[in-house]
Parts: sequence; structure tokens; C-alpha cells
Amino acid sequence: MRQFAYARAENTETALQLIARHQNAKFLGGGTNLVDLLRENIEQPDCLVDVTGLPHAAIEALLGGGIRIGALVRNSHLAANRMIRERYPVLSQAILQGASGQIRNMATTGGNIMQRTRCYYFYDGEARCNKRVPGAGCDALEGFNRMHAILGASDACIATHPSDMCVALAALDATIRVRGMGGEREIPMVEFHRLPEDTPQIDTHLQPGELITAVDVPALPFARHSLYRKVRDRASYAFALVSVAAALEVEDGTIVNARLALGGVAHKPWRAVTAEHVLVGATANIETFKAAAAAELKPARGYKHNAFKIELAGRTIVSVLQSLLAAGGAP
Ligand code: SF4
Repeated sequence: MRQFAYARAENTETALQLIARHQNAKFLGGGTNLVDLLRENIEQPDCLVDVTGLPHAAIEALLGGGIRIGALVRNSHLAANRMIRERYPVLSQAILQGASGQIRNMATTGGNIMQRTRCYYFYDGEARCNKRVPGAGCDALEGFNRMHAILGASDACIATHPSDMCVALAALDATIRVRGMGGEREIPMVEFHRLPEDTPQIDTHLQPGELITAVDVPALPFARHSLYRKVRDRASYAFALVSVAAALEVEDGTIVNARLALGGVAHKPWRAVTAEHVLVGATANIETFKAAAAAELKPARGYKHNAFKIELAGRTIVSVLQSLLAAGGAP
């Protein structure tokens, strides 16, 4: 591991100034992914700016019914919060299906969003990886690619985003609030992470020096009726092969509102907009759910070890929507 400086920021302004002062500084929150990346020499910052003392650790109700989640709220606190469990059960469920209890106690909301792929080759210094060394090639393309993407990938990178929480936030129309030296701005969750294209080393649309301060989840009354299902190789402490976050509102047998997002299938949390278009206005039944899943997965592409994920994703979408319908389909 390379040597680096350490600085603890007392307020947000200081944190931004410290980051701006260094060539390659990183914000340190819970450190549950960053410390691994440091140990593997994948991240080689010249300074770590510890932001855990900043005042961004609250969960607040917003006027109009939404909720603001501070970037430093720990994953375990967020999952256990009563407002989250009642208004957005999909978010609480997603968090509780990620990582382990110990990691959730340390990991922050901002850090969860910023975590990097768990592609095996990204962590293997002997492997070719365009995300770690731009232009090096991608050993996952012809290698063991069971965990890799089936949607939105490129010939440069087929990695997936590992977060469960972000899949739920994508389904819930969340917005990420960020602050830089130039002021504050908001980025919709669905636009925050990038597809790999030919620059897979860039994970997000965050600008250098910007800090995530909060996540806003808008009022979405029918999200009280929402569900997260994660399919994985073992029952705990495993990343998703496929996951589905969904909310459904049904009136007189017709779907009037739907939110659907997929995890484990793409370089970013995958909002299933095509499927939502099929669902809204249609009769709530298994034929509609199958048609929605098929439409969303039409452009999917499998590789040697992960082609099974296309059918798995379709079946998981249908099963989640059926569960929501069976439970009533309305708040
Ligand atoms: Fe690297 Fe992406 Fe290829 Fe994995 S899939 S080896 S992260 S370029």
C-alpha cells in the first residue's frame, strides 16, 4: 500500500478545500470498500479526507412527504428507520439483503452509492482490466463472467454495479444532492452512475472534488406497497446474480403506477423504463408481467457463463410483480 496523508474535516467547506488541495485525494466514510481498494493498490490516493464528522447523518421528513437521507447515515440505521420501513419498504429490504450486519453498521449511504464493482478481475492485479488500467483489455469477456452484465455493457467492460440499496433508490426516483466548490447540485439517481462505453474507469457523473451530502426520496404513496427480491448464490453475504425492486399500484384490475429497477445486470442500477411502459395502463395479470419482462430484456446479451441471467431476470421480475399483486397492488 502506498503512503498517503490523512486529514479529518471538521465541516463541509473544509472537506471540499482539502480535496481541492490534493492531486488525488479521496473522501473516507465507512471505508468498507475504499480500504479494500487501498490494500489492493487499486486506489492510490495521496490524501484521505475523513468526512465522518460532518453534519450529514440525519434522516429527515421533507415537506410534501419525501425523505432526506444524509450521506453519512449508516446502512443499518437507514434500514431500521421507521419512516423508511413504512413508506419505502423496498429500500429497507434492499439494504438488509446487502453485505453483512457488521458491514452495514459501518457503511454509509454515500459510500454505498460510490462503491466500485466487485468484478474479480478488477481486484486481481495480474488480470487485464480496462476499469483499473484504461486500455489494458478486459479478461472478463472471455473469462469467468457469471456475475457480469447482460444489459448496457460494452466491449470494454461488462462489470456490474454491486449495490442493492441503489437499485431501490433508482426505482423510487431518488435524487442525489452533491456539493462542490462551485455550489450544490442535484443528480437523479438513474443518471448518477454511468454505463461503461469505452471509458469504464469512470463510474459516475460526479465531478472531481464533489461530495455527496444527501439523498432525497420523493413522496411516492404507492411505494408503501413495494418489494425487493435478490437472487444470489448463497443466502447471505453474496452479491446479486439478479435483483428486482418494484412498486405497483392497481385500481380495478388495471395497473395505474409501476416502478421497476434491476440489480446485478448492468454497470449501473438498471431502471426498467421499457417494462414500466408496458405495465402502466395494462391489466394486472401474469401475461402483462411476462410481456413487460420480455420487452425490458429484449436487448439483453449473455456471455459464456452468465446467459442464464436473462431468463432469471425475466422470471424474477414476473415473480415480484405477482407477489405485489397478490398482496393487494395498492397501499
Ligand atoms: Fe475490468 Fe470491467 Fe473487464 Fe471486469 S468487466 S475486468 S471491471 S474491464
